Amino acid sequence: MKILVINAGSSSLKYQFMDSDTHEVYAKGLCERIGIDGRLTHKVPGREDFKSDVPMPTHGEAIQSVLDALTSAEHGVVSNVSEIDAVGHRVLHGGMAFTESCIINDACIAAIEECIPLGPLHNPANLMGIRACQKIMPNTPQVAVFDTAFHMTMPEKAYTYAIPYEYYEKDKVRRYGFHGTSHRYVSARCADMLGKPAKDLKIITCHLGNGSSLAAVKGGKCVDTTMGLGPLAGFPMGTRSGDIDATILEYLMGRYGYDIKEMLNILNKKSGVLGISGVSSDFRDIGAAAEAGNHRAQLALDVFYYSVKKYIGAYAAALGGVDAIVFTAGVGENDASARMAIASGLEYMGVKMDPDANNIRGKEAVISAPDSKVQVLLIPTNEELMIAQDTAELVRGR
Ligand code: ADP
Repeated sequence: MKILVINAGSSSLKYQFMDSDTHEVYAKGLCERIGIDGRLTHKVPGREDFKSDVPMPTHGEAIQSVLDALTSAEHGVVSNVSEIDAVGHRVLHGGMAFTESCIINDACIAAIEECIPLGPLHNPANLMGIRACQKIMPNTPQVAVFDTAFHMTMPEKAYTYAIPYEYYEKDKVRRYGFHGTSHRYVSARCADMLGKPAKDLKIITCHLGNGSSLAAVKGGKCVDTTMGLGPLAGFPMGTRSGDIDATILEYLMGRYGYDIKEMLNILNKKSGVLGISGVSSDFRDIGAAAEAGNHRAQLALDVFYYSVKKYIGAYAAALGGVDAIVFTAGVGENDASARMAIASGLEYMGVKMDPDANNIRGKEAVISAPDSKVQVLLIPTNEELMIAQDTAELVRGR
C-alpha cells in the first residue's frame, strides 16, 4: 500500500511517502515555518531536492503543498492524490486510552483531544495535521500511531509514581514513556536479526538521539522505560536534564525568582549535555571539544554514558537477565565511541564488544564479539516504516 506518513509539529511538518510492503520510499520532505511564512523541502531519491517558499498560514496549506509536490509533473511521484491509499499520523500522547494504533474517526479524535493536557505542545499540532488531511483528502483513510502506545504493557509497579495515589486515579499521573514506535521497531528487528522469536527474548533498547530513552522489552512487550509523564524524565539528553531531585526546583526558583515556566524551560532547553558542557547539544561538537581538552565537554559525555550504563544495569535487573542490547537514533547509530563507552564495564553481565564490528555507522549489525553472552546490535530506527505498516494493516482490516 502507498502510505503518506505525517509527523506534524507546531510550526513544522515532516512527511514520507512510501510503500508499506516493499519499504520503498518514493518521496520525503519537510514543511517549515508554518504560521510564519512557509518553506517546503521535497526530496525524491535520485532527483535534485526541490525547495520552495510557499505561504503556509496553517497546517492546511502545508499539507496542500505536500500533495502538490507529490503530484507535480516535475517533482511528483504519483499523478493523482487518489493514488495515496492512506495517511498515517504520528501522535505523541495517547494517554491510557490507546494501547495500539487506531483508525481515525470522531471517537479517536475526541480521545486525542482528551490527552492534550498530557501532551500540551505536541497533541494540538498532531491534531492540526489530522484535521488538515481530513479536510483536503476526505475519502482517504487515516490512522493515528502513538508514541506512548508500545509502553502501555508496563506493569503497575513500573508505571506508578510514589506520590499520593489520588493523582493517578483522578489526574492520570503515571509513567507513560515515549519513542514507543522506535523501541517497538528496533526490538522487533532485533528478534529478526537474531533469528529468535520475540517471545523468548529480553532486550534493552537504547534510543539515543537529541531526545533519548531506554526501554526494557520482555517477550516483545515493554516492561519499563525511562521517560515518564512527559519526555523530560530519564537520563540527561541533548538539552533535557532527565531525572533530577525536585528539591533543586524549589532551591533555584527561590534564589533566582524563576516561575515554573522559566524553571521548566531551563530543564527542557538549557540542561542535559548542553548545560553541563556549555558547548553544544550536539554530541559531535561535544566530542570535538572534549578531544581538544575541554573538561566540561568530557564531563558531559561521562555523565551521559554513566547514566545510560546505570539504566542498562537497572533494566537487566528488571528483566531478570539480558539477551540483547540495541543502539539506535542519532547518537546510537552514528557514534561508535559512545556505544563503546556505554558498553564497557558491562563485561560482568556478559557484554563483550567487538571494536572492529562496532566501527560502523547507520547500518544494521551485531557489534558484540562472537563469544559475547549478550548480543549488542546497531539497528537504525525507522519509525516511518512502522507507522506505514500499522496504517496499512488497519486499513486492510477495516
Ligand atoms: P531527534 O531526537 O531530534 O530525532 P536524532 O535521533 O536525529 O535526534 O539524533 C540527533 C543527534 O544525533 C544530534 O544531536 C547529534 O548529537 C547526534 N549525532 C548525529 N550524528 C552523529 C555522529 N556522527 N556522531 C555523534 N553524534 C551524532
